[in-house]
Amino acid sequence: MPVRRSDSLNLDLRLKTMRQRAITVSGPWFLWINLLFSLFILGRHYFSPLEKTISLTDAFPVLEILMGLILAISSSTIFILRMAYDQHAEWLSKLLSGALIAISALWMGCFYLLLASGDSRIVFPFAALLIFTALISLYFDGRVLLSFTLPIWVVILFCNFIYPSDLTLLNALLYLLLAGLFESGRRILRSWFVLAIRREQENRVLIKQLQDLANLDPLTGIANRRSFHLLLDKAMQRQQQCHTPLSLVMLDVDYFKKYNDHYGHQAGDECLVNIAQCLVAATRSTQDVVARFGGEEFIILLPEATEQQAIEVAERIRQKLQALAIPHVGSPVTGYVTTSMGIANLRPETTSTRLIAQADAALYKAKKHGRNQWQTFSDE
Ligand code: GH3
Ligand code: MG
Ligand code: MG
Repeated sequence: MPVRRSDSLNLDLRLKTMRQRAITVSGPWFLWINLLFSLFILGRHYFSPLEKTISLTDAFPVLEILMGLILAISSSTIFILRMAYDQHAEWLSKLLSGALIAISALWMGCFYLLLASGDSRIVFPFAALLIFTALISLYFDGRVLLSFTLPIWVVILFCNFIYPSDLTLLNALLYLLLAGLFESGRRILRSWFVLAIRREQENRVLIKQLQDLANLDPLTGIANRRSFHLLLDKAMQRQQQCHTPLSLVMLDVDYFKKYNDHYGHQAGDECLVNIAQCLVAATRSTQDVVARFGGEEFIILLPEATEQQAIEVAERIRQKLQALAIPHVGSPVTGYVTTSMGIANLRPETTSTRLIAQADAALYKAKKHGRNQWQTFSDE
């Protein structure tokens, strides 16, 4: 199946957010590694200081300062990540990338000092460990991974040329081997990451399709009776807690059988779709629920609406349908499609079944009084 542009855009967007989230999850672990490594270098330097130091380090404790900065940047970034909230993932991932670039530059300085002092024995295993732990923690974000590891690769290569005593064939081969292992490992891990996100994206689409199948009416695209009942129960629970009003409007298309008989079933379907759109347009999009109750009957849930507000909605629907003027020659009411509506307002101790029955009773009254009108439920 060809990949659609919107799908690939969605995947790119999801990959971006997942990268941001992944870096805030594995970033602290990697910062801890940097912190421990810098402590180790500091400790080692304390117990066995560099023998052949370059002139700058004689006058100034450069190595200590570099390690101290790594300690400070790592620990403060870990602290900020612990205190921050998940929703700031984009901002946190930027902070982490910046911290890692700074730390990498400091490692570059450290390795340069160690290599310049002839202390290459520790540099190679140490750099390899750092590079491969970076691979494990940052494989999903090529840019951050490269910006962390590149300075380390460069300084080792650079020092091999400057201090040719270390440039043996074996070292060069090892260097190439490590680079090959690093890149192939990065590609394999990244492909698994992309695959996992792609699968997750496909599952989301499938879940959405299943939810739509379960909750929406296939003809009109509005809520079906099943989801209406669920939403009504939820709204009634909320109403009981907050003591806010709640109303229902039940609608039935007048003489719809005659419409089908005259215009055909296909036209009848189109008419139902137009009516559904008209109902949606007449209600508040955020909280009201327009549902197809069955056949040519619709029901509208109006949370936080008094009876008067429900009457206003019903009147609006009547006028909108009138303005739509869908011809219905078989209707003895007006010659256009009309609906009858029953309004019920929730009273204390009323169940959802009773409330629907009250709206139905009011609708029956509207039919009896000549259709193309609304009626409210009354006990008498
Ligand atoms: P009243 O004014 O008393 O409501 O009369 P009515 O003809 O509207 O009501 P009745 O219950 O006699 O007929 C309802 C009609 O609605 C019959 C049925 O064919 C039609 N109908 C129900 N569902 C659909 C649908 O999905 N598409 C179409 N085109 N027609 C439908
Ligand atoms: Mg009916
Ligand atoms: Mg009808």
